[in-house]
Amino acid sequence: MTRYIQGSDRSQVTLLPECLDDFIAEDNTVRVIDAFISELDMATLGFEGTSPALTGRPSYHPSVLLKIYLYGYLNRVQSSRRLERECQRNVEVMWLTGRLAPDFKTIADFRKDNGKGIRNVCRRFVMLCRELKLFTQGTVAIDGSKFKAVNNRERNYTPGKIARREREIEESIQRYLDALETADRTQSVELPAKTERLQSKIQKMRQRLQELKEIKAQLETQPDKQVSLTDPDARAMTTHSMKGTAMVGYNVQTVVDTEHHLIVAHEVTNTGSDRAQLGKMALAAREAMGVKQLQVLADRGYYSGPELKTCEDAGIAAYVPKPMTSNARAQGRFGKEDFIYIASADEYQCPAGQRAIHRFTTDEDGLQVRIYWSSACTSCSMRDKCTISDYRRIRRWEHESVMEAVQGRLERQPEAMRVRKSTVEHVFGTLKHWMGWTHFLMRRKVNVATEMSLHVLAYNLKRVISILGIAETIRAMKMVGA
Ligand code: SF4
Repeated sequence: MTRYIQGSDRSQVTLLPECLDDFIAEDNTVRVIDAFISELDMATLGFEGTSPALTGRPSYHPSVLLKIYLYGYLNRVQSSRRLERECQRNVEVMWLTGRLAPDFKTIADFRKDNGKGIRNVCRRFVMLCRELKLFTQGTVAIDGSKFKAVNNRERNYTPGKIARREREIEESIQRYLDALETADRTQSVELPAKTERLQSKIQKMRQRLQELKEIKAQLETQPDKQVSLTDPDARAMTTHSMKGTAMVGYNVQTVVDTEHHLIVAHEVTNTGSDRAQLGKMALAAREAMGVKQLQVLADRGYYSGPELKTCEDAGIAAYVPKPMTSNARAQGRFGKEDFIYIASADEYQCPAGQRAIHRFTTDEDGLQVRIYWSSACTSCSMRDKCTISDYRRIRRWEHESVMEAVQGRLERQPEAMRVRKSTVEHVFGTLKHWMGWTHFLMRRKVNVATEMSLHVLAYNLKRVISILGIAETIRAMKMVGA
């Protein structure tokens, strides 16, 4: 044994550092957590329990519990029971809390009851980054990713799923009834036992049918005709990674700056599509970054006329590619891009060189759409390549110039989509890796939003530490005052 590196004698106390601070190196991340949270005004941020109750058992100060959570989310320990254990055995947490060890219920209740405060701390950290001049380029990338909810897929219902289940159950009941009849006819020796078994199965199936009926009634009250039984706010959504199947979860939107890859804004939604998110997220990012000029990069899932117009009206330059959804193009005919709009005359020039003029305007889901066609279509030699009707109709939204401006901008900066991809996509990979590729721990959207804020706060803190270093981060936090 003498040839091996020897450990210390457990009973020899004098070899250990005499104070807790000696265990924590100067460049330990917990020093940043401590510096950041110690500078926060917890009452202003909306935390409960910032003034101690005059009677009863003294409680923990919210900053102690926030330190535990931030430490936990930075170190992939998110569950309250595991955090309770860390408080008892982890020297870094002992240093952070002054050896306080709240029980898991206290830890869990803090996260449940202080969602507003936690979300404000996350915003405060982004403001701190802004004060540290970390957002100077004014370019961000937006993306959404689906995160699993506590709700299992089996406990999420849509009208189609209920109809399918009812059909399957009715088929099963019929099968059991047939089996009963056969058993009755053949009068086998085990008839009583078999009859009882089959009757019990039929009874269970009928109960299940009744449950489905109740869920169906609940479905009718839901605007999106979906019910999730474990987490009522979670929704079934399709994902790229699970082709053909749906995940029950939340669609988390994030806005990431292209300079330092910090998350400047995020939101938890339960809408599977990204189409209605662009304007809202871009405005939130601009406010968080405190910039006047903002460039926003997003993928085709965000392409929506009204959303692009919201950005344009707010002076935000959006870069969003147009989805390739033209039926005519897919069927080998001219696409809309083959028609040139002549703004001065408010007409289209078609591939045959003819002019399509404005005929009428129609309302489509609240959008005013102008319809154009040319009188020359009926005698056109290219009609086979253009339309299957008598006339090729060209549709133009009244604010289509906004979309043309976006397209023009994108053509001038073809690298925009590469920048988008390299900025925002790995952020989701990192967050999911930290979560352990599992589901959120809490139910309901408001609680899931709190969880996400803690993830984002931990992510941003880690990024700032890697940009500035531990000492500089602590110095900057003390200087600007978190
Ligand atoms: S069919 Fe009509 S719109 Fe199409 S190329 Fe011919 S004239 Fe132009």
